[in-house]
Amino acid sequence: MLITCKFGGTSLATRENIARCAQIIKADAGRRLVVVSAPGKKDKNAEKITDLLLKCYQNRFDSAAFDGLFAKIKATFTEISALVESFPIEEELETVYRQIKFSEANEDFVLSRGEYLNAKLIAAYLGYEFLDASRFVRFSGGELDMTATLKAATAIEKEKSYVIPGFYGLDEKGHIKTFSRGGSDITGSIVARVFEADLYENWTDVDGIRVCDPKVVKGSRGVSQVSFRELREMSYMGASVLHAETLLPLYDHPIPIHLKNSFAPEEKGTEILKKRTEVSDKQVIACITGKNDYTCIQISKAMLDKQLGFVKKVTSVFEEYGINISHTHSGLDNLCFFVENSEYTKISFKAFLKELKTRVDVDKILGDEEIGLLAVIGHNLSGKVGILAKIFAALKESNINVKTVYQSISECNIIIGVENSQLKDCIRSLYGALIENS
Ligand code: ASP
Repeated sequence: MLITCKFGGTSLATRENIARCAQIIKADAGRRLVVVSAPGKKDKNAEKITDLLLKCYQNRFDSAAFDGLFAKIKATFTEISALVESFPIEEELETVYRQIKFSEANEDFVLSRGEYLNAKLIAAYLGYEFLDASRFVRFSGGELDMTATLKAATAIEKEKSYVIPGFYGLDEKGHIKTFSRGGSDITGSIVARVFEADLYENWTDVDGIRVCDPKVVKGSRGVSQVSFRELREMSYMGASVLHAETLLPLYDHPIPIHLKNSFAPEEKGTEILKKRTEVSDKQVIACITGKNDYTCIQISKAMLDKQLGFVKKVTSVFEEYGINISHTHSGLDNLCFFVENSEYTKISFKAFLKELKTRVDVDKILGDEEIGLLAVIGHNLSGKVGILAKIFAALKESNINVKTVYQSISECNIIIGVENSQLKDCIRSLYGALIENS
């Protein structure tokens, strides 16, 4: 069985941690494709290598500050490099130092060097070949280009064992381009897809997915399986599991993902499958999560059902101001749009409401701020009797006012709008009703 295994920053933050990951890799001969992040925080007060690199880039014209920051990067890699006596860490670091300080290296190039150095080192430690992601991960127009990636990857010998840096590839001009932060998860999927692996293991420092964020619900129960669809909804609604775009390379070629804890490899973890096999009543709910800081715009117009092209007129104003709509609901004579606060970069929320009023012929526009959206995600929720009843009973019990509710057509998502300040209480209350007491 061919396995792609990706290890996150915390799993690779120190010599001991890397040695632990190497034991995991060597325990199964199928683990031939290893994708690595840059070293993460070795303790609470330390900084991630990628954060230090970012600061180096920002301070590249301030020699003293730059050297101070680079010294921290050097210290981490020097500590790790003791794993492989013959590794030329001084030379490697010197090259990176020069590339950042004295050349026109762009920000993405600088950020990518943590993964690059870590992969080289770990390849030497494992006795695997180093395969630079820039040889096959391709971007076009700022986005991952899977067609170009698959084409570039045809030149790679598929039988060898490789360590591959996560997080970056090349753009159409041949420059290094990174994904957004946490993007090594996407590289893991790309590698699994390119090599047609049977399994993609994603090793982190937690025991897989919990129903709720343990910072909100202490001791929240773990989840043994979720579907691709559920994972996508979870990431979109604020559960920080994997990078939100992790599944992109796998949509037309699903490969199971297994989330595992490198500090407790005996734990079961969570499987992410195209289709779940465990769907008993106890396992229906995969996640209860939520995100604060949405605005809600409600538009009323009599006889809306007779107005051809009305929705288009409204949404074109959003488009003009670069405002991405997160969710919509519609009624007979109203439309309702949920937008994250961070979307109002070209215009303020209040000014946008005014603009909508002048641009579209409506009866009434209402704007609401400080909305938290809570999401209950699970298998075939619209086909289960009594879930909404349980949700509303629990919210009533906790004296929470529901501003809006929406069951998505994906059938695995119920979205509830409440006040920002009540979101965490809602999550706790629904965990009690749907998980603990069910
Ligand atoms: N090192 C990068 C970050 O800290 C990418 C990754 O670890 O996935 O975001």
